[in-house]
Amino acid sequence: QLHTYDDLTKVNPVTPTTVLKCLQARYSMKVFYTHAGCTLVALNPFQPIPDLYSLDVMKEYHLAPQPQEFKPHIFIVAEEAYRNVRGQLEPVNQSLVVSGESGAGKTWTSRCLMKYYATVAASSSLMKSQDTVERIERRVLDSNPLMEAFGNTCTLRNNNSSRFGKYIQLQLDRCQLLVGASVQTYLLEKTRVSCQPANERNFHIFYQMMKGATDEQRKEWKLQHDQRFVWLPNSEKHVEEDSFHETVKAMVHLGIDAERQRQVFRILSGILQLGNVSFSSSANESQSCDLDEQSEGFLHRAAELLCVSADELQTCLRVRTLKAGKQSVFKPCSQAECGVKRDCLAKVIYAQLFEWLVTFINNSVCADKSTWCNFIGVLDVYGFECFQNNNLEQLCINYANEKLQQHFVAHYLRAQQEEYVSEGLEWSFVKYQDNQSCLDLIEGSPVSVFSLLNEESRLNRASDATTLRVRLEKELRDSANISWDRFSKVPHFTVTHYAGKVNYQIEGMVEKNKDPVPPELISLLQKSDNPLLHQIFSDKETENPNNKGLSKVTVVSKFKNSLESLMKILLATTPHYTRCIKPNPDCKPLTFEKEEVIMQLEACGIVETIHISAAGFPIRCRIFIITHNWNNERRAIMFFLCLCMCYLFEVDKLLSVVLHHLSCEDRRSLVHCGRTKVFLTQTMVNLLEDQRKKI
Ligand code: ATP
Ligand code: MG
Repeated sequence: QLHTYDDLTKVNPVTPTTVLKCLQARYSMKVFYTHAGCTLVALNPFQPIPDLYSLDVMKEYHLAPQPQEFKPHIFIVAEEAYRNVRGQLEPVNQSLVVSGESGAGKTWTSRCLMKYYATVAASSSLMKSQDTVERIERRVLDSNPLMEAFGNTCTLRNNNSSRFGKYIQLQLDRCQLLVGASVQTYLLEKTRVSCQPANERNFHIFYQMMKGATDEQRKEWKLQHDQRFVWLPNSEKHVEEDSFHETVKAMVHLGIDAERQRQVFRILSGILQLGNVSFSSSANESQSCDLDEQSEGFLHRAAELLCVSADELQTCLRVRTLKAGKQSVFKPCSQAECGVKRDCLAKVIYAQLFEWLVTFINNSVCADKSTWCNFIGVLDVYGFECFQNNNLEQLCINYANEKLQQHFVAHYLRAQQEEYVSEGLEWSFVKYQDNQSCLDLIEGSPVSVFSLLNEESRLNRASDATTLRVRLEKELRDSANISWDRFSKVPHFTVTHYAGKVNYQIEGMVEKNKDPVPPELISLLQKSDNPLLHQIFSDKETENPNNKGLSKVTVVSKFKNSLESLMKILLATTPHYTRCIKPNPDCKPLTFEKEEVIMQLEACGIVETIHISAAGFPIRCRIFIITHNWNNERRAIMFFLCLCMCYLFEVDKLLSVVLHHLSCEDRRSLVHCGRTKVFLTQTMVNLLEDQRKKI
């Protein structure tokens, strides 16, 4: 029986165990979507499900008078958002927030949503030429494989793991047609270019070009068949690499011409060659280290592909330039420093290339402001991460998740409860986890992990890890969300996140936050004869090494700012939450492991959500709120107005008339009359809707 409950609010009693059982029962019946009040839970089947996302299914949901009455599906969320934009008296922008851990299905879901809108919001109108319309939808969809080629990789958790966050706004015109899109990306994991975790890989694009390039291209990009590249580990794992053709096709659709593509691939190949350049240790400190014997050829090839002078490239990697007044002082680098500089060069090139790509996509798909009036935003950001070793990247990612969780809690849980209370409804409070204290710890003022990290980054001290550790311990001791294991050999701190505890290594954190790029590397790239490389570095300022970091924005400040603007957008839109769940850690098809699922349910507070949704309204949580001055839910208003015209009664009287008319005995369960608002359940709305049709 349990599998028939399409909304977890119907489960009785609502406990983690009953919710889990219900989801498991549904999963075993190959039912992957379940409502949890206002949230949609999506279980990953880890295998293609025929016809689940077909054109016919899309049409069915799109054309249904009440899609909510259909089986739970991501298309219900999509359609609801679409109707919300269209259906309000004043159109409201919508946000679809897709969350879940790595491999749970966020990117898959986002793609589904985009395909849905590209289909249902596609123009069949005669106003536009079919050609233009097709092209814009095609281009919007093509942004996915292109960004995934450059920003996704194969990790231990997911063969197509996104290593960047993405918020895409689908722009709709007055007729609700898709006329363009704009993409914002967050925090690409650029370290992966030069350092791949054990048993993981570099970004897909490198493998794609290795496999997909023609002999002619290979020759031009200096990629021999049998060449092994240090930065291309696990090439034998064949995933996502037959897609070179797809990636190039997407480039073409988006307007990246053959010459630009050539420049892109030459840069990528240049990066690969750079990875095979290594240095031998020098005899004494005053001498710079030499290139390893076999590195000579790779260095020359890298220089040729990046269109810079080989001598200058070599000097840049081996010698540090320090400015003393107007004079430049040259200091030979140690073997380790040479390696750091080589990695830094690769990372900065790749990150800028990715940024250029995103800007290009935006220019290609973004509609003119005068042509669109509303948007539906789809947010696909990395889920909560907790590895053996966690550093600044995980701190930023988990901070982003805390922010989203807070938004969710504020929007659904707190706002709903507060409203019920202020309206004087009989209401038993459900406890929810407020994560403000954790956010204060990470980003608050005057002191927080971020503020201390930024200060240490600016001070530029030698032994950063020790000082940071001491300061964190001293200045944040009052926070209940941070702790230390004083006996641990590796300096770290532990943060209690809403989704669990995470240990963060302190070593290297300050340096990562500074993310310094030696000025000589920037100058080198600015001189490149590769037009693209030259262009993407032309407006980069070379830092003054004397006051290094002073003028520079740190990684966490930049991330915090971009996240704050995202939160502002989210707050100004109507959100819809989809929680993707990964039913087993090994991505095995149709395998449901209880422990895995329960952990994820707890981490996102699903049970609390269901409690709140279920407590007051047994049928479904989609509560329509009608204010007495009639200005909220359009559909509800429409029939109330109809009824008003018929009966000319006040709300309370009107309700009794309606209820009497509908012969509803249990009025309390369907309608709640607050001080200024009337709360209706979905069932009530449906009853009234039927009634309206009869009038
Ligand atoms: P990450 O945070 O690592 O980027 P993610 O949440 O974006 O992870 P996805 O890449 O969307 O995860 O999904 C992982 C894999 O799960 C997909 O490549 C696909 O094989 C499978 N998958 C996800 N959702 C579905 C679905 N609805 N139907 C079939 N397969 C799915
Ligand atoms: Mg993803």
